[in-house]
Amino acid sequence: MHNSQQAPSPGKVMIIFAHPDDAEGNCGGTTAKWAKEGQVIHYLVLTNGDKGSEDLSMTSGKLAEIREKEQEAAAKILRVSGVTFLGVPDGELEESPHLRKEITRIIRLHQPAVVFTHDPWKLYQLHPDHRAAGFLALDAVIAARDHLFYPDQLVQGLKPFRVKEVYLFGTDNPDFLVDISEFLELKLQAVRCHESQGLTAPGVQERIRNRASEVGEAKGYLYGEAFKKIEI
Ligand SMILES: [Zn+2]
Repeated sequence: MHNSQQAPSPGKVMIIFAHPDDAEGNCGGTTAKWAKEGQVIHYLVLTNGDKGSEDLSMTSGKLAEIREKEQEAAAKILRVSGVTFLGVPDGELEESPHLRKEITRIIRLHQPAVVFTHDPWKLYQLHPDHRAAGFLALDAVIAARDHLFYPDQLVQGLKPFRVKEVYLFGTDNPDFLVDISEFLELKLQAVRCHESQGLTAPGVQERIRNRASEVGEAKGYLYGEAFKKIEI
């Protein structure tokens, strides 16, 4: 693995993901670290997570509300500056022209130099929302750059915007390792905000800790998070 540790110079970062809780588990340590180093980090949560419950008395409406609060609490712990919820029903995220356009608008609005998202090419990635989220985010990164995509957005005062770097999480091909040794506890604390998903269970926390330890080992870090980095 190369490129380890070198964070981009302070600027704006957007993390685009399918469900409330995806960001903390995948890049919560890097988020906490980069926020402390001065990056302004924004979450874009694509679905409302309204299917993630085994409690038969739970309704989708109630669950979506709970998960939004859990997501905001987790973001606060990691010092994420803001959260945008697109509110697509859980499990129904699709690579639609409408969603690509909306994500393009949000990228043009916030102007992040760096975007994190799911690796949509991960082999045997079963969850359709994770695949769709990755493709939507990447397609929107390209559309945001060129002025002939969605010119109606430009009339409304937005400008074409070039994202410089994309980091894919949940990847089979990591080439960028971040030392999160000092931030693992914050990551675990943020993950624990997602109580409705059972993420407070000691077994889950232990699994995350062990995974971070395995990932960090490649560079001799106590704990690490790994990504596929794409420069655009
Ligand atoms: Zn997810």
